[in-house]
Amino acid sequence: MRKIAVLTSGGDAPGMNACIRAIVLTAEHFGIQVIGYKHGFNGLIDQEYLPLKSRNVANIIQRGGTILRSARCLTFKTDDAAKVAAKNLNALGIEALLIIGGDGSFRGASHLSKYWQGQVIGLPGTIDNDIFGTDATIGYFTAIETALDSIDKVRDTADAFERIFLVEVMGRHAGFIGLNAALASASDQVLVPELCTDFETEVDNIVNHLKAAMNKRGNCSYIIVTAENLWPGGVTYLAQVLHEKTKLECRPVILGHVQRGGSPVSQDRILATKLGAYAVEQAIEGKTNIMVGEQNNTLLAQPIEVSWQQRKPLDPYLVKIQQDFFDITKHAEHGIESIN
Ligand code: ADP
Repeated sequence: MRKIAVLTSGGDAPGMNACIRAIVLTAEHFGIQVIGYKHGFNGLIDQEYLPLKSRNVANIIQRGGTILRSARCLTFKTDDAAKVAAKNLNALGIEALLIIGGDGSFRGASHLSKYWQGQVIGLPGTIDNDIFGTDATIGYFTAIETALDSIDKVRDTADAFERIFLVEVMGRHAGFIGLNAALASASDQVLVPELCTDFETEVDNIVNHLKAAMNKRGNCSYIIVTAENLWPGGVTYLAQVLHEKTKLECRPVILGHVQRGGSPVSQDRILATKLGAYAVEQAIEGKTNIMVGEQNNTLLAQPIEVSWQQRKPLDPYLVKIQQDFFDITKHAEHGIESIN
């Protein structure tokens, strides 16, 4: 193998740079040239690329974002766009294309492989962790830390004023950030797509739980973590409805894109480095249409379509303890009193 290429696509995630670095250093180790395409699949069509050598990836492991930039490319869903990309890749003599992104980008990889004979390999990079076939995705650990840091700060001010705060985190299709950040911040409620029923039922549950918590703890702060886009109007609307029902002050906080940024935490850098190196080794072995991942501390490659055909479940034990801890009705049945 003499030449491979890499691109970052879809939502960016902290650790993508660490992954690009690992790909370049591993490739250099095996005497393989690396081309970096810019702006996701757009770079394949527009021939926007640059050679990547070790000097280009020095001092980037700690940087969020992606030096190759990321983008969405709607036209890439067409057959013509994939054919142009295939022609351009062949013209440069690329033998394998490594795609760092989410499941949308992996669908793009699969689409390209219908028209291109080279190898395609997906590396899971998304803060949402919503990719089946790997325990974690690159960027996920940093996103939890960012959400957690913000929720801890919200709690300080919530405590001071004994207020109710609703914190909206990312994860419109998957509750990994929400559940983990809620658990680690000792939040009182968590609303994520996997666990949510309908809006009215959730509101009733929160109101009942809130009243029970106030009875047990007296006036106190109360934190609700919600995923984005669970219902129209999001966290702002929920805060308004809760205020109307309880007459308590309810403050919405939307964390938004800060969760995508920041220097990657060590777990993301290490995962990105392992997956980058492993993907190059898989390319050398001639593998194609695969996604690399890590499960139970073991690196593995699976057919790329597995990533979107199956839904990764939340850790059922985390769900259980989050629910057990805050089941105030049960605590009352057992006669457990608050120390306050
Ligand atoms: P992510 O990779 O983070 O899930 P998107 O879902 O936005 O992000 O997908 C990123 C890009 O992947 C899209 O802008 C498009 O270029 C490409 N893509 C997504 N789905 C397909 C598809 N079915 N066919 C071809 N390309 C696709």
